[in-house]
Amino acid sequence: MKVKKGDTVLIISGKDKGRTAKILKSLVKERKVLVEGMNLKKKHVKPKKEGEKGQVISVTTPMDVSNTKFLCPKCGKATRLGYKIEKDKKFRICKKCKSEV
Ligand SMILES: [Zn+2]
Repeated sequence: MKVKKGDTVLIISGKDKGRTAKILKSLVKERKVLVEGMNLKKKHVKPKKEGEKGQVISVTTPMDVSNTKFLCPKCGKATRLGYKIEKDKKFRICKKCKSEV
């Protein structure tokens, strides 16, 4: 996966389509990303003590990385990432503006 934690992505499909947010976590094995405030699912929380009310909370759940597109911090465009190898070091580059990101 080319995107990583801290990257800003544009959601390109699903109910959050068109929104942008930051990646909180990347789940490489599952090829999923946890994007801040996106793909919210309602979760019922049972009361812990007697007399307390159960609650419904929204939790951010991971989404498929293919539903997101990297948003370049340099040119501000949704783009794909490429790699550049220089002096045995690998850099990620924006395919649109060719900047290191
Ligand atoms: Zn760019």
